[in-house]
Order: sequence, then structure tokens, then C-alpha cells
Amino acid sequence: MASVWLAVLALALAGPVPSALARARWPQRVPRAAIVLWQAIALAAVLAAVGSALAAPEELLRALDPEDREGTPMIVAVVVAATLAGLIVVRLVGVLVLLAVRTRRRRARHRDMVDLLDRAERSALLGQAGAKAVLRVLDGAVPFAYCVPGRAPRVVITEAALDTLDADELRAVLAHEQAHLDARHDLVREGFVALHQAFPVLVRSRQARDVVGLLLEMLADDAGRRRCSDAAMAGALEAFVAAGDTETVARLERVRARRCGGRALATGTYLAAAAVVVVPTVAVVIPWLSEALPAAGVLR
Ligand SMILES: [Zn+2]
Repeated sequence: MASVWLAVLALALAGPVPSALARARWPQRVPRAAIVLWQAIALAAVLAAVGSALAAPEELLRALDPEDREGTPMIVAVVVAATLAGLIVVRLVGVLVLLAVRTRRRRARHRDMVDLLDRAERSALLGQAGAKAVLRVLDGAVPFAYCVPGRAPRVVITEAALDTLDADELRAVLAHEQAHLDARHDLVREGFVALHQAFPVLVRSRQARDVVGLLLEMLADDAGRRRCSDAAMAGALEAFVAAGDTETVARLERVRARRCGGRALATGTYLAAAAVVVVPTVAVVIPWLSEALPAAGVLR
């Protein structure tokens, strides 16, 4: 039964659980803990899928008479289990490596481009604004800012943003981008993009990837709020909000409402994250191993 339970768990953690969590508003009050919970759910989904693939052939084999299990059936069960589990792991690692290579190549090109297009006279003036990364200023009528992470990171901001933001708002924006770079939010995001691409189309959901992206933005907003003030971060977001941009609107509402979770909510979320990984291991995997290993001749 372990294989069935683990398959059900993998499907639940790939579909209904992320859907329910994506609809909830409370994670936005504790974005850091909420991201850890999303990571735990993703990890538990992968472990459950691998566990199910490993357990299924062995459980079918155990349904046979003890004499019939020895020899070839046992070898076939082990090979089938290893192949199924291996396929899941190889696919995930393959997608992750391919994505990492492509992302780094694209980023290097992007870095070269912003270096080339930089309005040097304005970025030189910005040097004192408190950013650790190299700043680049682009020509443009739309106010926005972003960072290009990696070994030689850049923070990019448009001239329109510089003209719109006051000094405090600008410092809040730079603190936001620096928080992305310091905490390597790009790696967290990349993990979820890889997982999204690696899961079969039928069971994968983009919610995890999208919601974690928004939570990372909120986490960086909190860095801007701490560095400057709620008003400065809200002012900056107001300047950046464009028609139909629901993500920035949600961030702006959150900063305006000064929404911040208490310690109890964060602790509860971390405990839930630990439980998502630990409970299935204790309740399903360990009982299965305690039956499967003696049956296979190990720990007899
Ligand atoms: Zn951001």
C-alpha cells in the first residue's frame, strides 16, 4: 500500500495542495516562511513520486509466494524500481542543468546589453545611492527597475524611474534589488521553474512557480521597507504600477496595509514545512522499509 499512498501524496502535493495554498492570503504576511513551505511541498512531492516508483514493484513482488520471489522476479523488481525512480531523478536533474546553462547564457548577453546601453553620466551619479551592485541606467519612458543576478550582478533602472522617484523611494528600490541579489532569489525561482518543466503536463501546475515569484518580490519589498520606510517602498511601487499589473498592485496593497506576520505565524509555517517532509517519511516510508527489507533478504 505504501506505493499507492505515496502516489496519492505526490499527486496531492502537485495539484490540490498548491492550489489551496496559492489562494490563501496569510502566506503574504510571512513570505520567507511561506517560500520554505512551498519548497518543502515541492521536495515532498518529488520524494513521494520517487518513493512510489521504488515501492510499487517490490510490493507487487511481495504479493507472490515466498518461494516464487527468489531469483529472477526479485532482480526484475529491483531493475524496474530503479528504472522508474531513476527516470524521475534524471529528468529533474536534466531539466535543472539545461535551464541553468540557458539562463546563465541569456544573463551574460543581457549584462553585455545593459552595459552597452548604460547612460554612464547618470549611473555615475547614482553610485552614492547605496547599491552594492554595479548600476546601469537605461533610456526609457516607462519607470521600472530590475536586477541581473550572477557573478557580476547589475541593478538596472530606467531614466523615467529616476525622474519619478524621490531619494527615499530610490533607496528603497535599490535595497529591494540588492535583497534579490544578496539572497540569490534567482536560484529559488530557478528551482521552481525547473520543477514546473520536469513534471508531466497533466499534473503540473504553474501556481507554485508564480506564487513563489510573488512571495520573493514581497520578501525584497520588506528589505526596502526595513532599509527606508513603508511610505518610501509604497511610493516606489506606486510609480512602477502599470495598468493590468496585478502583481505590483498586490505588493502595493500589502505595503500600504503594513501587512507583516507575527512570529507565531512564521513558526507555525516553518513547522508545517518540516511536517510535510517528515510525516510521510515516518508514517509511510519507514513502515514500508521495515517490511520490504526483510522480505528482500536484507535485515533478515
Ligand atoms: Zn523585485
